[in-house]
Amino acid sequence: MATPNAKSWLTVEADSDFSLQNIPFGIFSTPTSLPRVASRVGDYVIDLATLAELGYFNSVHELEDKSVFNESCLNGFIFQGPRAWKAVRARVAELFSHGNEELVGNADHLREIVFHYIDVEMHMPIRVGDYTDFYSSIEHATNVGKMFRDPENALLPNWRHLPVAYHGRSSSIVVSGAEIPRPMGQSLPKDEQQPVFGPSKSLDFELEMAFVVGTDTRLGQRLKAETAEEAIFGMMIFNDLSARDIQKWEYVPLGPFLGKSFGSVVSPWVVTLDALEPFRTQGPAQQPEPLPYLRTSGPRNFDIELEVWLQPEETPATKVCHSNTKHLYWNMAQQLAHHTSNGCNLRVGDLCASGTISGPTPDSFGSLLELTWGGQKPIAMQDGSQRRFLEDNDTVVMRAYAQKDGLRVGFGDCAVKILPAESDEFLS
Ligand code: MN
Repeated sequence: MATPNAKSWLTVEADSDFSLQNIPFGIFSTPTSLPRVASRVGDYVIDLATLAELGYFNSVHELEDKSVFNESCLNGFIFQGPRAWKAVRARVAELFSHGNEELVGNADHLREIVFHYIDVEMHMPIRVGDYTDFYSSIEHATNVGKMFRDPENALLPNWRHLPVAYHGRSSSIVVSGAEIPRPMGQSLPKDEQQPVFGPSKSLDFELEMAFVVGTDTRLGQRLKAETAEEAIFGMMIFNDLSARDIQKWEYVPLGPFLGKSFGSVVSPWVVTLDALEPFRTQGPAQQPEPLPYLRTSGPRNFDIELEVWLQPEETPATKVCHSNTKHLYWNMAQQLAHHTSNGCNLRVGDLCASGTISGPTPDSFGSLLELTWGGQKPIAMQDGSQRRFLEDNDTVVMRAYAQKDGLRVGFGDCAVKILPAESDEFLS
């Protein structure tokens, strides 16, 4: 893999998420090509399918099936296993490293392989099998517990003993750039006895990161927390859009359903754990100590800066919060160990989201519910307007990047525009 200081012969700005040390994976198409596997360096999208066709991966024996780059999702490539992921990233970094002559002088090949990101369309990178949403931020769980239940007993008794989660909907997970209509639903207005049905009045984002499962496990197989990270391919930004009014009325006793399933959004690039390795950090101390099957040692969190920007139509965006994945109480290895602790099998392409990542300070809360404290403290926007919750035609942009000693590895934007609720005329 590219050494920490290696530079590319492609231009990479200092603040680019896509240094030569990143080499993420995604799915792209051009006006003349079908969706296929890509990587990215700086502002340039690199067609891995064409690189393979032209023989540039012939030396990469770890990649047994070189046709996987022609697929419209990453699942086939992921199925090739961690040795293939590592070898492909190393080869791409090598081809685009300063001083490598294989590709740089071949104008015909470059025209077929390297595209400016403006000229391509990005697609959903994963065919998501099952999707699980955890609830792993102690700050978020405490804030929500205070607002929805009891300020004195904000955390339920199980919270510090296991990574709480629910099973979510995978069909409505879409890639950055999507437009999602405001959900309709049933809610109980404040101080009313009877519920009503209509467009959600408290639509929210949830700032999360998700990881992609990189291996199949069999029924009954339990992953050890200590080694469970080996079953992870990489991470993406995840916006778990949430209709708070629908959620609040429906969630007892079986958890979230229609308040969450109308749409979630991921960033187009999956960043591998290998690329994030330099940014490992110790997680918060866990008190009480978890049961043995959930114990991990060493630095298991990642120091990834997170930002949320809110952009009303045709006005400047306002940064509404910044947080960091290092705050998560339960790490990904513990989440996977818990997920498989009953023998539930995993499949390549399953997605596990972290839950809203809130930090300790009010400007680091990862949802409008917390930032405005249930709508009581509206946020001032750059254009002079205020927000309690999302309004029609608002765009939410999430960013995530790790940065240290001149090295930057990021995820690109995860953006979604909220459209007005669809009228009954379109019911079918
Ligand atoms: Mn969530």
